Amino acid sequence: MTVIAIDGPAASGKSTVGRMLAEALDYLFLDTGFMYRAVTLAALWQGIDVMDETAVTTLAHTLDIDIQPAGTATDGRHYTALLNGQDVTWDLRTPAVDANVSQVSQYLGVRQEMVARQRAFGQRGHVVMVGRDIGTVVMTDAPLKLFITASPAERARRRWRDRQAQGHTTDYDAILADVVRRDGLDSGREHSPLRPAAGAVVLDTTGRPPEVIVAEILAQFSVVDDLLA
Ligand code: C5P
Repeated sequence: MTVIAIDGPAASGKSTVGRMLAEALDYLFLDTGFMYRAVTLAALWQGIDVMDETAVTTLAHTLDIDIQPAGTATDGRHYTALLNGQDVTWDLRTPAVDANVSQVSQYLGVRQEMVARQRAFGQRGHVVMVGRDIGTVVMTDAPLKLFITASPAERARRRWRDRQAQGHTTDYDAILADVVRRDGLDSGREHSPLRPAAGAVVLDTTGRPPEVIVAEILAQFSVVDDLLA
């Protein structure tokens, strides 16, 4: 089993790069953000106050959260996310989830449960795993750790374009404010704050297409792969 750990702030391009990298290497791909989003969505749907740490933590332990290949779906999805068996792929991407997920992901009990599930996924084989704490907490032994970032304005532009493509009309300034707000919460939280792992390769994707970033990573990886061989 080999895990490539990718961390970085919201909309930094880490998921696109991670997915392309997984394809190039024939690795599995796990974008761990979907799990915290699923817990948040379940809380919203069940009317649980996201400020109630005990209730949210209890909820997180009961949820069946799964990810499957996109299969024959033609709606632009890259994977299918299931919450208690229900397809929630697009429900996870709504502004309501964006607005609340960084609160939910601060809770230690929620994190411990999700990290255990992520580590179990890591046992499935070669995996590119993407998140905020993969290199620092979840997969500290990963032979290659990357920290992918981009300027807040560029990240907000990307998120805005994604939203447009999905048919939502969203205000750019509101998206920028949300990106900056989430950066602050994710970097400033007590448990597993967002930061580059020791030894992580930091890549700034501002103004650079994902193909270029992936090529750079593959060059880094060939060095690691030689060491693993
Ligand atoms: O990456 P994505 O934007 O989908 O992540 C949503 C939120 O989930 C992040 O803003 C962060 O609060 C949380 N998260 C986390 N740890 C991870 C992945 C995501 O705390 N490994």
